[in-house]
Amino acid sequence: MQVVIATTNPGKYRELREGLAPLGWETRPLADFSVTMPEETGATFEDNALMKAAFVAQKTGLPALADDSGLMVDALGGEPGVYSARYGGRSSDRERNVYLLERLRGVPLQERTARFVAVLTLAYPDGHVESYRGEVEGLILEAPRGENGFGYDPLFYLPELKMTFAEMPPEEKARHSHRARALEKLLQAWKNGPPPREIWPLE
Ligand code: IMP
Repeated sequence: MQVVIATTNPGKYRELREGLAPLGWETRPLADFSVTMPEETGATFEDNALMKAAFVAQKTGLPALADDSGLMVDALGGEPGVYSARYGGRSSDRERNVYLLERLRGVPLQERTARFVAVLTLAYPDGHVESYRGEVEGLILEAPRGENGFGYDPLFYLPELKMTFAEMPPEEKARHSHRARALEKLLQAWKNGPPPREIWPLE
């Protein structure tokens, strides 16, 4: 099956393509098509993932997989959440990390609890959709550590592994991340081929 990976984020693209490898799908990057992604106006990760996947499936005529994800920091009431990619209007990962550290200045480590959330939505051109959600809990450090990954990875620390996502080799992040957990659910659902579609009763 050909599936378009409906993201313009190279970090997400790499992790999704590698995570989907066991299914043997032919994954196609968005760059293969002349599609401009819509603005993400949804209030939830689910809304945005659905909007992106359905839009790309309709434009390309192929099944499309979208990832909407973000970081939710408890001491900031769940910020940046769905605004993770444009937090504080900052335009690079580095500047967004600096901004997050400013917002958390003075908050002690034990109160810097946070979770990463990822929602993967697979949409088909006929309108059918499937969604899978993954989450991982961690702490926001007071300074970045590590060079791998993307986004907030250098600040997101897993106490069990004593490392940030950016300090882990990619294979390790691929075992523990929110995206990995959502991918695990997708792979499980697809282990015997396409999962059965729910049929809604007419009355
Ligand atoms: P969106 O899903 O396009 O709205 O963007 C999600 C944003 O959340 C990314 O641009 C990153 O800033 C952040 N994010 C999502 N997943 C990760 C991750 O695995 N590591 C680090 N940052 C992430």
